[in-house]
Amino acid sequence: MGSGPAGLSAAIYTSRAQIETVVYAGEEPGGQLMKTTEIENYPGLMGKTGPELMLTMTQQAQKFGTKIGYETVIDLAKLRSEYEGVILAMGAHPRLLGIGEEKYWGKGFSTCAVCDGAFYRGKEVYVVGGGDAAIEDAWALTKFASHVTMIVRGTEFRASKIMQKRVSDNPDKIKVKWKTNLKAINGEKVESLVLDVEGREEVVEAQGVFFAIGHIPATGWLK
Ligand SMILES: Cc1cc2nc3c(=O)[nH]c(=O)nc-3n(C[C@H](O)[C@H](O)[C@H](O)COP(=O)(O)OP(=O)(O)OC[C@H]3O[C@@H](n4cnc5c(N)ncnc54)[C@H](O)[C@@H]3O)c2cc1C
Repeated sequence: MGSGPAGLSAAIYTSRAQIETVVYAGEEPGGQLMKTTEIENYPGLMGKTGPELMLTMTQQAQKFGTKIGYETVIDLAKLRSEYEGVILAMGAHPRLLGIGEEKYWGKGFSTCAVCDGAFYRGKEVYVVGGGDAAIEDAWALTKFASHVTMIVRGTEFRASKIMQKRVSDNPDKIKVKWKTNLKAINGEKVESLVLDVEGREEVVEAQGVFFAIGHIPATGWLK
C-alpha cells in the first residue's frame, strides 16, 4: 500500500524476487515527491524533478512485473484475504496549520528545509516550530537565507539542549519570536505573514515559510 519511494522500493524487491506484486497508489500516486521540483540530495541523481524520479521508480517496478492499482485501500482485512502479504508504505503527512498554506506549496511554503533551502538564497524566511526539527531546519536555512526567524508558540523550545545551543550561540543567524502564532500567509506567492504575537497582530515581510511542526503517519485509520 503506497506508491511513494518506500512502496515502490518494496515493489522493486518483491517483483524482482518473482512475487506477484500490486502497488495500490492511493490518493497521491508517486507520494510526497510529486510535490517538489528538483531533487538535489539523492546520490547518483542529477537534474531530475520529483515527478520525473517517481515516474522512473514506477517504470522500474513495472519492468519487473509490478502492477499499479490506482485505488486507495480502505479495508485492510479484505486486502489481507486477497493477498498473501501486505506491505504498509503509506508514508506520513507533514502536520499543517490549516491556514491556507497548501496553496503556497512550491511558492514559498515548504515542510522540508533540507530539500528546498537552496531555493531561498538571500531571502527572508521563517520557520514555524520549536522542536528539534524546527531548529534543524532553521540551521539548514542559515546557509542560504538572508535572515531566518523562528516562530515559537511558547516561551521555550521543546528541542534538545544541544540544538537549543545552536540558536543561542548564533543570535546573529537565527532570531526567535516567542509566544507567536502564524495566522495567515499573504500574496500570490509568499510575500508576508500575519502573526499573532501575544494577542497582538503583526505583519512581517517574508519570501519563505517552513513548517516543522511534526508529521502525522497515514495509519490512523488502521487503529
Ligand atoms: C515539498 C516536498 C519536497 C521534498 N523534497 C525532498 C527532497 O528533495 N529530497 C528528499 O530526500 N526528500 C524530500 N521530501 C521528503 C520525501 O518526499 C519523503 O521522505 C518521501 O516521499 C517518503 O516516502 P514514503 O514512500 O514513505 O511516503 P510518501 O511519499 O508519503 O508516499 C505515501 C504513499 O502512500 C499512499 N497511500 C496512503 N494511504 C494509502 C491507502 N490507504 N491506500 C493506498 N495508498 C495509500 C499515498 O497515495 C502515497 O502514494 C520532500 C517532501 C515534500 C513534501
